[in-house]
Amino acid sequence: MNTENMTMKFIRKLPIPAEIKSRYPVAERLAEVKKQRDLEVQKIFTGESDKFLLVIGPCSADSEEPVMEYIHRLARVQEKVADRIFMIPRIYTNKPRTTGKGYKGMLHQPDPEKKPDLLEGLLAIRRLHTRVLEETGMTTADEMLYPENHRYLSDLLSYVAVGARSVEDQSHRLTASGIGIPCGMKNPTSGDFHVMLNSIEAAQSPQAFLYRGWEVHTQGNPLTHAILRGSNSKHGNNVPNYHYEDLRRLYEMYSERGLENMACLVDTNHSNSDKQYIEQIRIASEVLHSRRYSGDIRRMVKGFMIESYLVDGKQNIGDGVFGQSITDPCLGWEKTEKLIYEIADQV
Ligand code: PEP
Ligand code: MN
Repeated sequence: MNTENMTMKFIRKLPIPAEIKSRYPVAERLAEVKKQRDLEVQKIFTGESDKFLLVIGPCSADSEEPVMEYIHRLARVQEKVADRIFMIPRIYTNKPRTTGKGYKGMLHQPDPEKKPDLLEGLLAIRRLHTRVLEETGMTTADEMLYPENHRYLSDLLSYVAVGARSVEDQSHRLTASGIGIPCGMKNPTSGDFHVMLNSIEAAQSPQAFLYRGWEVHTQGNPLTHAILRGSNSKHGNNVPNYHYEDLRRLYEMYSERGLENMACLVDTNHSNSDKQYIEQIRIASEVLHSRRYSGDIRRMVKGFMIESYLVDGKQNIGDGVFGQSITDPCLGWEKTEKLIYEIADQV
């Protein structure tokens, strides 16, 4: 057996974030737009603003054109509800997979029907996030799946989340401590709130670590907060965690930790909906009711993460439906628009 064949094959050296940024810079005018938006989001998390946050968009940003069409529609709705709701489009370009196989997002496969191409992927994701800012004035959210990649997009993002499968990982936590935007820590798939709160504590603390070949020191990120996404039981079924009792329990546990800017988003899909995407409408309404019932919950629950795209449900790769998810099933556009107005009426 030749073990050399079993190790990594180094294909090519890729440009570092600073090189990509200088090759594809964000215009000064747009950098100012991002600064203003970051300030607005920050105020939501510090409690200075009581606007309700929606991190909303497809499970995976699989293709530039349908995603742009979706975000143009979102931007028009945003204008109408701007006094009550602040929206950050979810452009998830790298996807964690339960078994590590299959489509891993635009970063890996800029064309989901073709083989992985990581250089083209890096350029494609920067182009997409940039296009959204240029054409709609909206800055975006992505999952921080690979912490060492964060700086490829750090001048474009207004929000990141650390996913359920990564939230216990030290390098995610340490990197989160050194980014200047809110970072949502999802509860792990096991559902343990302690893991999520430990992650928030780690990311809110100053850290020193090794990053992209550098020794870096951070000050801690006080905008790190919780995202409730439901969990899986040991018997394999979904256990939601958006009910009043769950929010109450999180409030109590969060209060005991002495963390900064207590905040949580409720992810209305994933194990909260059991991926029954239409249930997102009912789940949102229930959480808004809990917010009206309890002032503590109202202060803690700052928004939702919603999976939504142009067409209801999901398709297989290659089916060719414009704007339908190829990963988790999403709420289609008509239902999404209606839901946003309903949320605006209830916050
Ligand atoms: C997602 O947000 O699409 C996702 C993969 O979430 P989670 O980490 O909660 O499974
Ligand atoms: Mn998803």
